[in-house]
Amino acid sequence: MNACPRAWAITYATLSGHLNSSKAPPSTPPRTFDDLLTRTMRATWLKRLADQYQRKIWSIPYGKQTLENAVDDAMGLVNMSVPHLHLEMGKVRSNKQLRSLEQCQTLRPLFTGQPRRWAYFDRRTSANIGGVEVYAAPDVAIFHQHRWTLVRLQFRSPRRSLLGQQLEHLLMVHWAMNQPGFPRNFDAYRVRVVRWQGRAWQEHTVQVSNELLEQSLGLMNHDVQEMTWLQRWANADPSLNSLPLATHHEQCQSCRHRPDCPAKDGLNSAKRAQERTVLRTN
Ligand code: SF4
Repeated sequence: MNACPRAWAITYATLSGHLNSSKAPPSTPPRTFDDLLTRTMRATWLKRLADQYQRKIWSIPYGKQTLENAVDDAMGLVNMSVPHLHLEMGKVRSNKQLRSLEQCQTLRPLFTGQPRRWAYFDRRTSANIGGVEVYAAPDVAIFHQHRWTLVRLQFRSPRRSLLGQQLEHLLMVHWAMNQPGFPRNFDAYRVRVVRWQGRAWQEHTVQVSNELLEQSLGLMNHDVQEMTWLQRWANADPSLNSLPLATHHEQCQSCRHRPDCPAKDGLNSAKRAQERTVLRTN
């Protein structure tokens, strides 16, 4: 929504006057090869964890083959093609990225048989927080030294500001406190972020405090208000021509709505044209 209100409104806002908030977010096909690799890595990782949870060990060749098959299947499904060398390099990079993920400090205990209680989640599992369905499930939760560590995995670096990201990560704590079987007190949690930074995974801890948790709820409520406002705006102008466009032209490069968007021939010129229209109608 922050990256492009218009794209968000087309994807999520319905004309019935309600946001699609009670459903899982719609799954849209990947637009780029990198997007496809990222999703395939995530899906393969979930399978890997599900097997690890049942103590089924993946050999290195099995892991590699599983990922490669998943990439080939995903390419076939969306009818995407890239040069052979590009494809092979993408598979090698993704396989390396997944294998090194098992070695990071936060997750290594799950693969080295060290005693831990743990669980894994699909991010599409929502929780009701203050009447809002929130998709903020951690990727993994690990119980150690009397507290749960909620782990967020980022297979690519996100664009949101650091503070915005931190507050978003803290929604995992709200999510957990609203799940059966998890403690209701915030001091029972640690938050760890494991993020891919181009060549290696980097890990950091997010501070958890009452004040920061309040702020993260504030951010969530602010986002909900913005969504409601955009929803009304989209209903009032079904052409969507007056809705704000992307903040950065990079967003448009992989946008599926581009062929029908005023920004199809350039974001800056589309914004200028939009401003002129607003000035004329005022
Ligand atoms: S092409 Fe750009 S401005 Fe248009 S909807 Fe997509 S991201 Fe937004």
